[in-house]
Amino acid sequence: MQISIGLPATFNPDAYDMIVVGAGYAGSVCARRVAEGAGFRVAVLERREHIAGNAYDYVNDEGILVHKYGPHIYHTYSERVHEFLSRFTKWTDYQHKVLANIHGTLMPVPFNHTSLRLAFGEDRGEELYRKLVDTFGEDKKVPIMELRQKNDPDLQEVADYVYENVFLYYTMKQWGQTPDQIDPSVTGRVPVFIGDDDRYFPQAPYQGMPEDGYTVLFEHMLDHDLIDVFVGVDARDIFTLDENNVSVCGKVYGGEIVYTGPLDELFNLDLGALPYRTLDMQFETLEQDQFQPVGTVNYTTSEDFTRITEFKNMTGQVVPGKTTIMKEFSHAYEPGSGQTPYYAIIDPKNRALYERYLERVQNLTNFHPVGRLAEYRYYDMDAVTDSALELSDEIISCHA
Ligand code: FAD
Ligand code: UDP
Repeated sequence: MQISIGLPATFNPDAYDMIVVGAGYAGSVCARRVAEGAGFRVAVLERREHIAGNAYDYVNDEGILVHKYGPHIYHTYSERVHEFLSRFTKWTDYQHKVLANIHGTLMPVPFNHTSLRLAFGEDRGEELYRKLVDTFGEDKKVPIMELRQKNDPDLQEVADYVYENVFLYYTMKQWGQTPDQIDPSVTGRVPVFIGDDDRYFPQAPYQGMPEDGYTVLFEHMLDHDLIDVFVGVDARDIFTLDENNVSVCGKVYGGEIVYTGPLDELFNLDLGALPYRTLDMQFETLEQDQFQPVGTVNYTTSEDFTRITEFKNMTGQVVPGKTTIMKEFSHAYEPGSGQTPYYAIIDPKNRALYERYLERVQNLTNFHPVGRLAEYRYYDMDAVTDSALELSDEIISCHA
């Protein structure tokens, strides 16, 4: 596959049936699917110097494969998503496990049967577990905010413990707000698990890591005769939008446009900036084989960072005597500062602002916002892939 750096002076938008902005999951999935399904010639423009969006990984100076924009663990319940992505990679059978460091004791998260025994002791832990099973059933997921609403004193004891020791401080660090103040779907991503499965994504039928890493997966996905990729190109430099048309390089563009960046940026934030949280990632390579027992340890009652990831524990890479770890520090995103907008802050006010931006592109029938940024959603990789496949289906059927 050829990736060009920058846009050549000869770049002619009309030579392409579709222009894709962003080479992450949303953009790359659409590019590949529409090139194959409609025979479209596609130009992918990416403002970073690399493909793969936030899933980008690379081998660092110490020879260790690391995830530049935070730990990415593939998991999905969708057969279609899994089949599609599996065309571009084989998967390892890695099953992600997370431990919470709670006042110095490491307990599985999602909080489960094992965590209960560690937190409350064998006998009381078992009693409380039986109560949970009797109330909700075995192998069930219960969001913490739902558990907190139960009136039973035993269930309240569990809920209080989990709320105080797993969610409160971590959520304050991550969002600058308490779990009560944020959308319940956010903490609902990590429900209490009534069972013994100690994986982070219990019950997800497909999970693992791409055998040669995410960037290679993307190289394969974008490797198609009809796809040209240009990195180091900010679409805002060549796009102009008015109510009815998108112009590219000064001419009204008649092809399809898949846009995967933030919508507010396209309008110079003139209605106000969509709020995000960003992360500072602090990487460190240590002269030891292993730092921690699992891929990620969440610091739920101490420290300024939220979690530590040890990449070798996730990728299975063997590098004796060395290991790279990464700490994540979360804070408010400042537009225009060069920071990355990682997490949309889900609340009705922000959603309403997003909808106002969305209204502005509603008349542009060839302009399709898709992905975690462009849809302003807290999407995992599989959900973005799913959304991009659906959009691709629509584009293909319109041109059938
Ligand atoms: P992105 O990956 O952000 O891609 C959008 C691309 O568009 C970017 O590369 C950007 O540079 C480019 N772009 C934007 N504007 C322009 C422009 N004007 N011109 C040109 N290019 C532009 N998901 C999981 O499933 N499992 C995980 O374990 C997981 N862990 C995560 C950990 C962290 C810290 C974060 C932040 C996310 C995690 N995710 C995880 C979510 C995952 O990163 C996203 O679902 C996925 O990467 C979103 O893909 P996307 O294409 O929508 O967006
Ligand atoms: N969370 C928490 N403690 C944990 C794990 C998660 O409080 O040990 C909360 C926190 O608010 C976090 C949310 O649950 O932002 C979602 O967690 P997840 O691990 O899914 O976040 P991501 O991997 O997307 O950063």
